[in-house]
Amino acid sequence: MARVSFPYSAPVSQTLFDRAAAVTPGGVNSPVRAFRAVGGTPRFMVSGTGPYLTDADGREYVDLVCSWGPMILGHSHPEVIAAVQEAVARGTSFGTPGEGEVALAEEIVARIEPVEQVRLVSSGTEATMSAIRLARGFTGRAKVVKFAGCYHGHVDALLAAAGSGVATLGLPDTPGVTGAQAGDTIVVPYNDLDAVRAAFAAHEGQIACVITEASPGNMGVVPPGEGFNQGLADLCRENGALYISDEVMTGFRTSKAGWYGVDGVRPDLMTFGKVMGGGFPAAAFGGRADVMAHLAPAGPVYQAGTLSGNPVATAAGLAQLRLLDDAAYEKVDAVSERLRGLVSEALGKEGVAHTVQNASNMFSVFFTANEVRNYADAKAQESFRFTAFFHSMLSQGVYLPPSAFESWFVSTAHDERAIERIAAALPAAARAAAEATEATA
Ligand SMILES: *Cc1c(COP(=O)(O)O)cnc(C)c1O
Repeated sequence: MARVSFPYSAPVSQTLFDRAAAVTPGGVNSPVRAFRAVGGTPRFMVSGTGPYLTDADGREYVDLVCSWGPMILGHSHPEVIAAVQEAVARGTSFGTPGEGEVALAEEIVARIEPVEQVRLVSSGTEATMSAIRLARGFTGRAKVVKFAGCYHGHVDALLAAAGSGVATLGLPDTPGVTGAQAGDTIVVPYNDLDAVRAAFAAHEGQIACVITEASPGNMGVVPPGEGFNQGLADLCRENGALYISDEVMTGFRTSKAGWYGVDGVRPDLMTFGKVMGGGFPAAAFGGRADVMAHLAPAGPVYQAGTLSGNPVATAAGLAQLRLLDDAAYEKVDAVSERLRGLVSEALGKEGVAHTVQNASNMFSVFFTANEVRNYADAKAQESFRFTAFFHSMLSQGVYLPPSAFESWFVSTAHDERAIERIAAALPAAARAAAEATEATA
């Protein structure tokens, strides 16, 4: 890793990180948490309240990661905590059906019109893996089309040109995924319908599904161009393939009905996670009833989970979704708009080339003057400027995603005080970005 000067030390976090590294590869349980892209010591958090996190050294941060999306009501929302405590008191897992999971499924089906039936799982990865298996089982075809820079969890077949931690680490692929597992995956550039058309032509009758992030957030925020998602849906229909919209990140975040609520393009299958778990491991996939009917035990495509529909996780998710009314989304959207303006203004004052892109309240800041339409564009940014910007913000008590290839997330809890703290930190961070050179990053 290159040389970076860190504005201050975090001795307790460093001690914890050293302990972690002795017993866990890289000291973390999910790669991007390790700060490899920006350098320095990852902060070990001990508590969260509203828009704030407190680390093991006792420093408070305004949180712009929100657990990578789930905490859309902020941390420790009293009604979510109460629902969890009430559920925990009744027992934590039964391995039987329960009413909570029915209520959560009903809430999802009520919000998202194309979802006629839904199956609960415990992670977004499980959701996309299962949706692809179901698409293959339903169509009797093997091939899957995905987009470079789109991340769908660490599903073997989908770890080809994936975004998120894979983009950050610059791994085009990963050892451990065999040629056979990735061999049925066709990777095409994002926002390029001609490439999808060509894939269908080259593999006639063999493509089971096209999977896409409804609006990508794992190469930074790169929204679909006008007509792109509809074009995918049409191409799938014309070719007898299923259109899978991965809404693990956008679902219940970009609107009450996720990205579907924004662009109205009808998928055959959809996947959810993050917000729907209320900070617990709960995720889901669902869609057309005739397709979902192929899933065990109704049909032959196997899928299962010991903790699927866990009563504590479903109570948290349900409590959170019930609080997410129109007013909540207006609030989150307004916070996002304020911050986008403030960041752009600060960078502009320092003459830093940048582009702020958003999908409703999800947004990211690319250190390039050009619009970012795909993964190649995203990688062309000056990410060394982000590194300097990130560390300046961190030293001033603002916690950004530790990578230039991630969405920033806000919540209903980001109030005037939190926004002012961010605004106060921006001028110095913008200056640091302006002064950064490739050599110092
Ligand atoms: C986070 C994410 C996943 C994976 O979800 P996990 O719960 O981390 O397994 C899948 N797809 C998208 C679009 C995501 O953002």
